[in-house]
Amino acid sequence: MIKENFIKIRNEIPTNVELVVVAKTRTVAEIQEVISAGATIIGENYVKEAGEKYATIGKKVQWHLVGHLQKNKVKDAVRIFDMMESLDSLDLAAAINKECRKVQKIMPVLIEINCAAEWQKAGILPEGLNAFVQELLKLKTIKPMGLMTMGPLLKNPQELRPYFEKTRQIFEKAKKIFALADWKFLSMGMSDSYKVAIEEGANMVRIGTAIFGQRS
Ligand SMILES: *Cc1c(COP(=O)(O)O)cnc(C)c1O
Repeated sequence: MIKENFIKIRNEIPTNVELVVVAKTRTVAEIQEVISAGATIIGENYVKEAGEKYATIGKKVQWHLVGHLQKNKVKDAVRIFDMMESLDSLDLAAAINKECRKVQKIMPVLIEINCAAEWQKAGILPEGLNAFVQELLKLKTIKPMGLMTMGPLLKNPQELRPYFEKTRQIFEKAKKIFALADWKFLSMGMSDSYKVAIEEGANMVRIGTAIFGQRS
């Protein structure tokens, strides 16, 4: 079913929308199956788990970090990931930059936005984005390419629409202000919300359950 689920979703979403297959808790065999169906980007939440899978699967796909990164995992994360979608602090950015300099790698990042200003959630508040980008641009081995948001946990995905819309607005605003050639990704939407997210301008969606089934 994994193959069929992936193909169905890939065919359903517009071709300009990147599909990140979120594979936390899934086995190497399950990931191999989705790759054979055409998946090109695998998302992982945890560095250790990603590292184990990366050791077997390697560079035939792109690896995106979608979970919060701990500072003591930065070294491994820089080695494994092609993009970090969940950058949520300057401290972490500095640590990533330092490690990237050592291994001469440029790390594409998306800035995680806490679009509903939830106290318990990671991410940059919408009103803090411009100052955050300003600081990031001083770090030469980090390449900001756009925004990622989760949005609040709501039963009805339609209720997420205003949060996605707001994130789209600050994405566009930052694009005008900073005029970065590589500022092009807006990562929003998961299994239950990707349709609404795409309607609100997402061009990257992160989907796990709708492809692999419920996580146990
Ligand atoms: C787990 C996860 C997803 C995928 O969620 P599903 O509901 O399984 O599609 C997307 N983004 C992030 C940041 C996640 O942690």
